[in-house]
Amino acid sequence: MTEDFYELLGVNKTADEAELKSAYKKAARKFHPDNAETGNEELFKKVGAAYEVLKDPQKRQIYDQYGAEGLKGAGGFSGAGAEGFGGFEDLGDIFSSFFGGGFSGGGAKAQNRPTKGQDHEVSIQIDFMDAIEDKAKKIRLNPLDLCKSCNGKGAENPSDVSTCGTCNGAGQVMSLQNTIFGQVRQTSTCPSCHGSGKFIKNPCKACNGRGYKRETKEIEVTIPAGINDGTTMRLSGQGDVGKNGGPRGDIYLVVRVRSHDKFKRDGADIYSTVKVGFAEAALGHELEVPTIYGEQKLKIKPGTQSHEVYTIKEAGMPVINRKNRKGDQYVNVEVVIPNNLSKEEKKLLEEFQKLRRDKDIKV
Ligand SMILES: [Zn+2]
Ligand SMILES: [Zn+2]
Repeated sequence: MTEDFYELLGVNKTADEAELKSAYKKAARKFHPDNAETGNEELFKKVGAAYEVLKDPQKRQIYDQYGAEGLKGAGGFSGAGAEGFGGFEDLGDIFSSFFGGGFSGGGAKAQNRPTKGQDHEVSIQIDFMDAIEDKAKKIRLNPLDLCKSCNGKGAENPSDVSTCGTCNGAGQVMSLQNTIFGQVRQTSTCPSCHGSGKFIKNPCKACNGRGYKRETKEIEVTIPAGINDGTTMRLSGQGDVGKNGGPRGDIYLVVRVRSHDKFKRDGADIYSTVKVGFAEAALGHELEVPTIYGEQKLKIKPGTQSHEVYTIKEAGMPVINRKNRKGDQYVNVEVVIPNNLSKEEKKLLEEFQKLRRDKDIKV
């Protein structure tokens, strides 16, 4: 794994403040130890340290010129001094927007304050045609809830709960760590109580004393008409239960819309192709064209060329969140040249050719 601060954050050396911040948020969210799938405490600390430096123009300049070593010598990296990672207060702010303040550097108080439950991302696939109107869909969620057996206490009896001796109820312990910036004071979750600050004599059997359990539930969601592939919907308060009475987290529902073999979509507009014989194209014709609402008549004018595009007004998808507005359908007319002429057809065409002579040939 790279030690380069820019590489750690996945940005160019020229990244501006906003780019840095957004790259940092993304990386920190990915590696946050609370993140069950991609959490990685070591990387999480590294990206935090990298951001600490790069967000400060002065430190960044030193880093650019002399590298991490330069910061050490010049005392430019204040975060590694006696105050520990002072920047973790900033981190806390950033994290409150992702994890509801689940990240806390402040010891006992922080452990016990109400925090919002964790958010989760869930995805759902719907059919192309499902997007024509509001569609109710059931989705299955697996949020963390208070254990029903012990009501979140984690104990068989309330009198079984006492203060954790390892951390004196703080939920966190301090340790010194050697890093590239020198020795750093580091707080980590108490290994005895896993951050609860409590010691439980007879843990609740249903939740092993955690007080929380994942519960599967199904909810119905209305997917709005006209939704585009890849849209994310926020389902407020459907995520994990909050800690210490904090609000529930949210669910971010990513909606994937399957493609269709006849219709292509661009926003609310639909694109399709119809084939017509060259005689119909030359003489004009009325066709039945498939739309997402069923067949619709389309008149093509005499002399229509191959790949001429006709518009059927308001045959497209509903425009999302705009009641009664629809996109259009663009019909690409493909003129078919026959390659299996019967004798009679051939004779007629040859006669036609004589009449026509070389009127259509231009070089
Ligand atoms: Zn329980
Ligand atoms: Zn403890």
